[in-house]
Amino acid sequence: VSDFTLGVDLGGTNVRIAAVDFDGGVRAERRAETPDRFDAIVATIAELVVAVTAECPDPPALGIGTAGMVDFDGVVRYAPNVPALIERPMRTAVEAATGVPTVVDNDANAAALAEVLHGAAHGLRQALVLTLGTGIGGAIVDDGRVVRGAHGFAAEVGHFQVTDADVPCACGQPGHWEAMASGNALGRMGRDRAAAGGLARATQLAGGDPAAVRGVHVGDAAQAGDADALAVLDDWARWVAIGCAGLANVLDPQVIVVSGGMVELGDVLLAPLRRHFEGRLEGSEHRPRIDIVAARLGERAGMIGAAALARGHR
Ligand SMILES: [Zn+2]
Repeated sequence: VSDFTLGVDLGGTNVRIAAVDFDGGVRAERRAETPDRFDAIVATIAELVVAVTAECPDPPALGIGTAGMVDFDGVVRYAPNVPALIERPMRTAVEAATGVPTVVDNDANAAALAEVLHGAAHGLRQALVLTLGTGIGGAIVDDGRVVRGAHGFAAEVGHFQVTDADVPCACGQPGHWEAMASGNALGRMGRDRAAAGGLARATQLAGGDPAAVRGVHVGDAAQAGDADALAVLDDWARWVAIGCAGLANVLDPQVIVVSGGMVELGDVLLAPLRRHFEGRLEGSEHRPRIDIVAARLGERAGMIGAAALARGHR
């Protein structure tokens, strides 16, 4: 009897696979670049399965956490950041290509499951888990289970409206939280400040061109203590906090766990985020504190959670 399952994290840049034991430990892992056609993506997953099973043979099941809205049949219905996946039958295609029983879920749901089972929300029943990267993903954990909604599309928190300003989101709608508070949004705010003559250090990191400033340049300059970059980051953290407080007022979580690439900013992000968040929470002096913490499993959370899905966790 095998005591591990396979987990795949399918994003717009990389496909990653791991053989994961029942304690969340990674026994073997591989990665490849994400191809730009669906059949090539499926073929790449099948190749990664062959490669990882050379070390860990006979996997009983495979879980996939993928970008996009995934229905209960394992069809990716919509994925604004990975168009090759839209309306594609991921579960049946991967099962046919690998011969391994497969389950498919949204990548943020998979990461949340990993943090609840093995990470920063371990043992907690109520949690909000955000994936703050190029975009914003999220998952709601209620009574220890990931909330899925009527069709599997619940907790698309990046597309919850936080302003009527005409700032376009990747999905095409204006004013969504992802348009205001994602890593891409930090880049946009940085370019605006640089074009107005500020943000000299971040502009230098971007090769001297204000139009080339991205979120990572603002973040690096802020971590080096640059006052201008810290001001942009504070403004951006305010938008992150606006969404967190709105969601916390609705959900009353025990904790908010932040995963995704932006969390590598550490306290440069978390300190202003907590400060702005407290000021927006209903009755903050009259309720238990809701902490905002960094995810513990880092970039492996998606694979570890997908492997948990494959062994029946929801
Ligand atoms: Zn949107």
